[in-house]
Amino acid sequence: MNNNSNILPFLIIIFFLIYTLKKFGVLNYLDTILISRKTKQELKDFYSKQLNYFNSLPYKDRDRFVIRANKLKKSIHIIGKNDFKVTEEVRLLSIAAQVQLTFGFNQFFLNKFHTILIYPDTYESKLTGKMHYGEVNPRGIIVISWDRFLKGYTIPNDKINLGLHEMAHALMHTIICSSDHEDGLDKYLRDIVRLSKIEIEKIKNGENHLYRKYAGANIYEFFAVSVEHFFEAPDELKLELPALYQYLTKLLKQDPTIGLFHLKK
Ligand SMILES: [Zn+2]
Repeated sequence: MNNNSNILPFLIIIFFLIYTLKKFGVLNYLDTILISRKTKQELKDFYSKQLNYFNSLPYKDRDRFVIRANKLKKSIHIIGKNDFKVTEEVRLLSIAAQVQLTFGFNQFFLNKFHTILIYPDTYESKLTGKMHYGEVNPRGIIVISWDRFLKGYTIPNDKINLGLHEMAHALMHTIICSSDHEDGLDKYLRDIVRLSKIEIEKIKNGENHLYRKYAGANIYEFFAVSVEHFFEAPDELKLELPALYQYLTKLLKQDPTIGLFHLKK
C-alpha cells in the first residue's frame, strides 16, 4: 500500500511529461534525429520510384515523409493472408497512404488502427460475408487486397485509390469515435458531412456528378471518395465543388493545387 502511494506521484509526473512532449511535437523532433542518413536516402529512392504524391512534395518536405514512414513501418503490424508474403517493399507501400493522408497533421498516428491485413486479391469479408477489395474494421484493422491496392497507384489521376480510400475510412472513424487526434478535425468533418448530404442526394437522384455512384451510398463512402479525388484530381475537385475542397484542405491541412502539404492552422 505504501509502495503504491509512493509510486503514484512519480507515474503522474511521467505521464504528464510524455503528454507535454507529444503535445508540443518534441517527440516528432526526436524522430528526425534518430533516423540515419542512409535509411533516409534509401526510403527517398524507394518512394520516388513508387509514389506520384512523394514526387509532388517540395524537397524540404520529403524528409518529413520518410521519417514518418520509417516510424509507422516499425509500429504497424502488417500481416499477409492466404499466403501473401509481406516483403520490405510491401511494408513500405502499405503505410504510404497513411503518411500521405495525415501529412498535414502533427499527430500522424491513428491511435486505434494498428494492423493492416493484406490479401493477394479479393477476399470474403467476415463482416459482410461478401467478396471485398478492402474494408476498415472498427477493432482497428485495415484490410486490403494487394492487387487492387497496387492498381490505385498505377494510374495516379483516375480518382480510384484503395489505400487512400480505406485510410480515409480509418481517419473518419478516428475523428468520430476518439478524442485522440489532431485538434479541430471534428469541426471540419462536420462541415464536410453537412455538404456531403446535399451531394449524396444529387447522386441518388441520378444527377450528373463528379463522383462515381458509389460515393452516394452514405456519408462514409462519400468522404472516402472525396479523399481519392482530393489527391488524384485536386484541380477538378476545386473547380466543381469549391466549398467541399476548401473544407478538405482545412481538415487535411494540405492544398495540393498550390503545392502546400502541411498548412498552418
Ligand atoms: Zn469504402
